[in-house]
Amino acid sequence: MKFGKRLMIAVVLMLAVGGTAVGIAKVKKPKADPEDRSNWVRKQIVGGPARNVILFVGDGMDESAITAARNYWLGANGRFAMDRMKMSGSITTYAVNELMDSKAPFYVTDSAASGTAWATGRKTGLFRISTAPFTGEAMPTIAELAHKNGYRTGDVTTDSVTGATPAVQMAHVRLRNCESPADEGVCGDDAKINGGLGSIAEQAADSDLDLIMGGGRSDFEKTITAGPDQGKTVLDSARRQGFDVVTDAAGLASYQGRKRLLGLFNGGGMTHEWSGQPAVETGAASQRCETGQRPAEQPSLATMTRSSIRFLNQRSKGKKKGFFLQVEGADPDKGAHRADPCWMMGGVVALNEAVKVGLEFARKSPRTLLIVTADHGQSSQIIPFTGADKTAILTTNEGSQLVLGYATSRSGDQEHAGIPVPIKAMGPQAANLMGLNNQTDIFKVITRALGIRR
Ligand code: MG
Ligand code: ZN
Repeated sequence: MKFGKRLMIAVVLMLAVGGTAVGIAKVKKPKADPEDRSNWVRKQIVGGPARNVILFVGDGMDESAITAARNYWLGANGRFAMDRMKMSGSITTYAVNELMDSKAPFYVTDSAASGTAWATGRKTGLFRISTAPFTGEAMPTIAELAHKNGYRTGDVTTDSVTGATPAVQMAHVRLRNCESPADEGVCGDDAKINGGLGSIAEQAADSDLDLIMGGGRSDFEKTITAGPDQGKTVLDSARRQGFDVVTDAAGLASYQGRKRLLGLFNGGGMTHEWSGQPAVETGAASQRCETGQRPAEQPSLATMTRSSIRFLNQRSKGKKKGFFLQVEGADPDKGAHRADPCWMMGGVVALNEAVKVGLEFARKSPRTLLIVTADHGQSSQIIPFTGADKTAILTTNEGSQLVLGYATSRSGDQEHAGIPVPIKAMGPQAANLMGLNNQTDIFKVITRALGIRR
């Protein structure tokens, strides 16, 4: 009886505790809060290897440039596709102060030193293309290492393909202006005739890249002065070394060849998308940008990106390794140098269109690491009223006045700025780019994602 009573009490207690536990679970279970993105963010954190990496770079595309373009085109509450990439951070962009014979930082970089930092993982001096400061040693780039490790590689820009940003993946020179064999004086020891690797155009032709696209055809029409292709144009040298050449949008769209591809769609840099009035010192009047300025025979950055992804993806189909593709939109920088907000903002919108193409691909190929970043700050500031050195005023699509001030130089072109630039990423290893990082960390993240061995 005593035992039975105890058992009964125990059973009652168990039921009570159990019942209470069930009751608590019912009462305390949190409801799914649609505003709480914690689980969504957790799902975005993906480790492990990537099959493909696409690196989008807006030259000079700092937060001011993005915000000006967002205000003008979509409104202050609008969002670009790249804005929706929530794994984001900032990147410090300084160079090495080699010009002052110092290993200390120079706080405002140019595109050459900047690109070298992410392409090679090492900081360098201004104007250098993937060469070490002081020693001039050629430093291997992501594209070169990816090729050696069995990946397909591509390099796309709206600039000349001999511009600093595309060049950092495929060339090694002391001075970025050593673009063609006609620049022998600038090239110095880098010239082939002096025993160097040659100008950027020559090194592009000699490179292992599977695909190179952008402007800069005139650099490839120059004659090579030394080496196995002496007397030939750089274009002929590229063809001899396995490139097919296309020169307009129709040629690109209909290309069915099996060779490597060199697309050169304009003599110099490609035509910018939007135009308008540059900022002025006095009497700025409100304006709207003229869109659609790029001639149809030049493919858009989005079109070049779509063609490149298809090309590289087809050629890596059935293989273990995918591809590395760098895509540059050069116009945010080119416009801002000229204090020309329409030129700049059209470049941001064009790059965002290219990013959309990347996002579309990454949805189907989730083992793709997508990165969107810039290479340095620029000159545009969103200010409340006219009053800076130079001012431009725009009537935005939502009907407000956007005032942009330019005051980074009193003579000639506007200058770069030393602020960190935004970075947004998605896919394997993207979480490693959150918060504040150095440009050289981009190299580390990409090479780790691709499992590259040096
Ligand atoms: Mg550039
Ligand atoms: Zn610049």
